[in-house]
Amino acid sequence: MSSYHGGTESTGEVKIVKDLDASIQGRHCLVVEDIVDTGTTLFKVRNLLQDREPLSLKVCTLLDKPSRRKTPVQVDYIGFTIEDRFVVGYGLDLDGKFRNLPYVGIYQP
Ligand code: 5GP
Repeated sequence: MSSYHGGTESTGEVKIVKDLDASIQGRHCLVVEDIVDTGTTLFKVRNLLQDREPLSLKVCTLLDKPSRRKTPVQVDYIGFTIEDRFVVGYGLDLDGKFRNLPYVGIYQP
């Protein structure tokens, strides 16, 4: 799922870039997120997957920015809780850049 479409502010518009190939009906399902920010993306992902009737649905995220939450959403496992900063590296990008950094850093223009 993609919600950024460039820049450091989410558009709030969530796009399915690649849907699941397999059915999750009757299966335990774990969503692995990079970061939960406003919660909009995860809220939509949860609803989308829940409609497919998994046996269970849980979410883990590497990073969580709870102070930015606009949509209350259940996150079952959280790696690190961080402040309201835009972070890059370790898979997190800004317009496709910085994803390869071997650490998580705060982006400063
Ligand atoms: P949300 O819908 O919770 O506002 O945003 C979730 C998505 O926005 C994440 O999966 C991630 O792609 C992107 N995002 C949110 N905060 C950050 C951030 O600090 N750095 C980067 N690189 N992406 C972020």
